[in-house]
Amino acid sequence: MLRLQMLPAGHGDCLWLEYGDPGNPRRVLIDGGTKGTYKRALLPKLQALPEEQRRFELFVVTHIDADHIGGSVELLADPRAGFRPREIWFNGFRHLPAEPTDTLGPVQGELLTDLILRSKASWNGAFSKRAVVVPPSGSLPRIELEGGLVLTLLSPTPERLASLKPQWEAEVRKAGLDPRQTRPEESEMREGLRLLGGEGPPDVDALVRAPFAEDGAAPNGSSIAMLAEFEGRRLLLSADAHPSVLKAGLDRLGTEGKTGKTALDACKLSHHGSKANTSPALLRSFDCTVYLFSTNGAYFKHPDREAVARVIKLGGAGPALKFNYRTDYNAPWDSRTLREKYDYSATFPPAGEEGLTIEWE
Ligand SMILES: [Zn+2]
Repeated sequence: MLRLQMLPAGHGDCLWLEYGDPGNPRRVLIDGGTKGTYKRALLPKLQALPEEQRRFELFVVTHIDADHIGGSVELLADPRAGFRPREIWFNGFRHLPAEPTDTLGPVQGELLTDLILRSKASWNGAFSKRAVVVPPSGSLPRIELEGGLVLTLLSPTPERLASLKPQWEAEVRKAGLDPRQTRPEESEMREGLRLLGGEGPPDVDALVRAPFAEDGAAPNGSSIAMLAEFEGRRLLLSADAHPSVLKAGLDRLGTEGKTGKTALDACKLSHHGSKANTSPALLRSFDCTVYLFSTNGAYFKHPDREAVARVIKLGGAGPALKFNYRTDYNAPWDSRTLREKYDYSATFPPAGEEGLTIEWE
């Protein structure tokens, strides 16, 4: 059994992955979503588990943006959660490429680092405590967890991780790790967003012709992205990684099958379905028909229509779009006219619910 839950993580990611014995599965958590995700979704889910099952094989904090790290800090800071990961993957300031002039990091008191050090988890242990990074050449890092889940690292490259260094302090502060900074509550964000919806039905053919320009944000480029494999199933967990890096990683895996492409059972789209992170070249580089969108549309109105149109046109035969919220920004894709014309399906949480689960036997 392999089960992926996209928890309702606001405009961020919080992926709860279970594998093995359905009655007593092993677990991996990838990101904690926004700060509000913790109390609303993650803590209740953890507290519903018996204490002894709150030991996770791995906790990955993909990068320092608030919509991934906010809930992660809350989680590690709260003893009520009883969360005990064996290992944590996170690239902190100490993992950014060093220069001879480097002294101590600019934000030594930075919260997540302190919390990881205080936890009993091994930090980047699978990478000899060094950075979680794809080497410039040779095979990709491939880590097998207890119980047989295999993770192949696709991002970040050393260059993308290095680009983060000049921005580290500013980004860490933006991510809310500076306790002096206050951030808007999620309810306030939602209210502002009500006004922004409704732009008429999407014109898929026009949208897919829009030129592609890649994301240049350093924090996104520093994302830990990977392929997760279990019992012949394969998931692409893209975090907010840059699509050229994802494609280069997949290309290094080598070709397979009659199409010569990597076969995927699902792709969690990078950066919540941003048009700058879902390139035609990436979509053409693998075989996949299940596409996962994790976002409530807050702040950036994700997913972008261009990205959804690319998935519909280039994402294999009869692609299945799966959303962890129903919002003003993704609801237009539920149109029967569009679904029939372009032969795709769209799945949303049941009415009154948030979050989505996909399971493979
Ligand atoms: Zn994000």
